[in-house]
Order: sequence, then C-alpha cells, then structure tokens
Amino acid sequence: MHEDCLFCKIVRKEINAKEVLRDEHVVAFHDLNPQAPTHVLVIPTVHAEHLSDFAKQGNPVTAGRLLAAAAEIGTRFGPNGYRVVMNEGPDAGQSVHHLHAHVLAGRPLAWPPG
Ligand code: AMP
Ligand code: ZN
Repeated sequence: MHEDCLFCKIVRKEINAKEVLRDEHVVAFHDLNPQAPTHVLVIPTVHAEHLSDFAKQGNPVTAGRLLAAAAEIGTRFGPNGYRVVMNEGPDAGQSVHHLHAHVLAGRPLAWPPG
C-alpha cells in the first residue's frame, strides 16, 4: 500500500467512490469525469504504478480477476458492447499512477481513439 496514492486511498476507503464491485483482488468504481454514459475504473487492491509494473509483480490470480471484473462490468453496463483501456505513461495520458482499467460503454465508441 502506498500512503499517498489516490487509488490506494479508495481501496482503504479513506476517499469515497461510487463502487460497483469489490473483493480481495479488485475494486471498481465510477469515474469522476465520465467519458461515456458508463465509465467505470477497475483497479487491483495491491499497488502497481501501471500495467508494466503489474506484469512484473507476476500475480496471475489478481491479473485474471482484473480482466474478469472488467468483463463483468462491461457486460452489465454495455449490452451493445464496451471498451477496456489502460493508459500507461505520458504519451497515453496516464494521470493516476495506480493501474486502472477504464471500462467504457453506453454509446458508439470511435476507433481509432485519439
Ligand atoms: P488516466 O488518465 O488513464 O490515468 O485515468 C485516471 C482517471 O481517474 C480519470 O479518468 C479521472 O477522471 C479518474 N479519477 C481521478 N480521481 C478520481 C476519483 N477520486 N474517483 C474516481 N475517478 C477519479
Ligand atoms: Zn496505489
């Protein structure tokens, strides 16, 4: 756990979030600044700065649960389809340095993204 990390604080319930799912491996909650009618973030309960850091930790159970949770939320909120995105580093515009998968649904999603 990282003391000052925003999303670790959500895991510890020190900051409120509109949670849609929580278990020992992941927490999912609505994004504060939604980019689609449904915009949910799925995060591991352990701190990892981004996907590369998370992959190095090599915990296949947590990694599998993160993907499964994204699929559960996608199918729940996006019956017509959904998109899962992870931003890493400055070129991708990562602004919170605790790994998160964005689950976007509820409107047609243009491709390629910006
Ligand atoms: P990224 O730019 O990929 O790092 O995404 C970070 C996301 O976290 C953005 O979509 C923000 O709107 C979202 N965000 C930042 N703070 C909060 C918060 N306290 N609760 C929910 N979402 C947040
Ligand atoms: Zn963290």
